[in-house]
Amino acid sequence: MNKNIKDMKIVIVGCGPSGLGLARVLQLKGCKNVKVYERSTHKYSRLQGSSLDLHVDLGQKLIVAAGLENEFRVLSRPDGECFSFGDKNGNLKIRKPFLKISSKRPEIDRGDLRDILMDSLLPDTIEWDYHFKSLKQIENDQVELTFTNNDGSIIKKPVIADLVIGCDGVHSKVRKYVTLDQFKPEYMGITMIEGEVANAKNSCPEIYNLVNQGLLFVMEDGIVMIAQQKTDGNIVFSFAQKVEKDWIKNQGFDLSPTSNSSDIKRFLKNKLIPKWSPIFHKLIDQSMAPFKPRVLYRAPINQEWKSQSNITIIGDAAHSISPFAGLGCNIALYDSYELATILTKDIDCISQKPLLEKIENFENNMLNRWRTAAKETMENENSAFLPNGIEALKKRIGGIYYYFNCILSVNKVVNYINYLTDLILLTK
Ligand SMILES: Cc1cc2nc3c(=O)[nH]c(=O)nc-3n(C[C@H](O)[C@H](O)[C@H](O)COP(=O)(O)OP(=O)(O)OC[C@H]3O[C@@H](n4cnc5c(N)ncnc54)[C@H](O)[C@@H]3O)c2cc1C
Repeated sequence: MNKNIKDMKIVIVGCGPSGLGLARVLQLKGCKNVKVYERSTHKYSRLQGSSLDLHVDLGQKLIVAAGLENEFRVLSRPDGECFSFGDKNGNLKIRKPFLKISSKRPEIDRGDLRDILMDSLLPDTIEWDYHFKSLKQIENDQVELTFTNNDGSIIKKPVIADLVIGCDGVHSKVRKYVTLDQFKPEYMGITMIEGEVANAKNSCPEIYNLVNQGLLFVMEDGIVMIAQQKTDGNIVFSFAQKVEKDWIKNQGFDLSPTSNSSDIKRFLKNKLIPKWSPIFHKLIDQSMAPFKPRVLYRAPINQEWKSQSNITIIGDAAHSISPFAGLGCNIALYDSYELATILTKDIDCISQKPLLEKIENFENNMLNRWRTAAKETMENENSAFLPNGIEALKKRIGGIYYYFNCILSVNKVVNYINYLTDLILLTK
């Protein structure tokens, strides 16, 4: 049956960055029947975590296609690009400063990114409290989707779609209808425990100075500690370690929303980093409950599948990777940009065959892009946990600053340039 994509019923499952970005660009291109179904019950029911650097040639492509450059400029932070390596004694070892004028990867808080994308959608685009359960192919090349409410107690009226895009994250339930259940994400052997301190400038000034508005890495004793500044002055931090998949469960930590996380705090200070500087212990003590476990999964590198004309997956649902190169959200947003662009090109009337070709073309590009990103990510990840890899990683990320042992003078010059460009309104 021939249809115009603008009239097709397009169902997006999941309102993370990839689902929201896709919906926005499709709507801008004239698609009138785009709906996003999200399992959360409302906009603020999901904690948004830390911040993301959006690369000019990846995540920012979506921002431009979505017509949200101004909103992004206001909310993003070029100073978030500052990258520092410290040691467990609390010393600064390498600092890659940020030059605002040449910022290519400014940081934006996850919550801010969600808000600008969400607020740009047509009214009633998002259906909250729709937990995707299953789908089946029906006549006229359409798909019937089944949803329940968030706690599974109510089965919703079936939803009929001409095209389904699974944007439902690493544990996607849509994926199995695309990969025919052949490829599943695998535990990558790393579990993180994530905390957050409010008003870090006052509550943890030593760490605040080391973070210097950006990102701090400390890699010692087989532990990778990451601390990152948010716009509101909070610092989100995590401790990553190589442990078995059920490690969190086996520890018996109280992870309930009302817990004061005292058992996790005790574990982090006394067992994980007992010999680290007291500034790290203070960071843990000052943390607001609850701590969040992040058990990391990645898609198998050899995955591939036969494309279908009415269903696909993007973002983490298609290709989750570890966070060690900060690329996951960037390639997820690029997927949204590219899929929306390909789908809406030459669209007067498309039958199933050209639609299949478009999706095939998109999926090939997406998987090639992800394989390249996954390789970079894996290199960083392997280096971060191996004593002889850490120096290589510092060299790779630190660039020329690895060789300059003159952190203070270089940073002073860069700060002065930033001050001047702010003054003449070239930067903010
Ligand atoms: C600790 C950490 C740090 C990271 N740092 C970075 C970084 O610096 N830079 C970067 O680019 N990337 C980073 N990433 C990766 C990035 O977070 C993800 O790649 C990105 O969020 C993927 O977006 P998405 O829209 O595909 O999926 P998600 O953000 O996971 O969104 C999926 C959405 O689908 C919904 N959903 C799930 N199941 C269902 C269902 N059955 N029915 C309906 N709705 C459903 C979820 O509630 C959610 O809203 C990091 C990841 C982690 C874990």
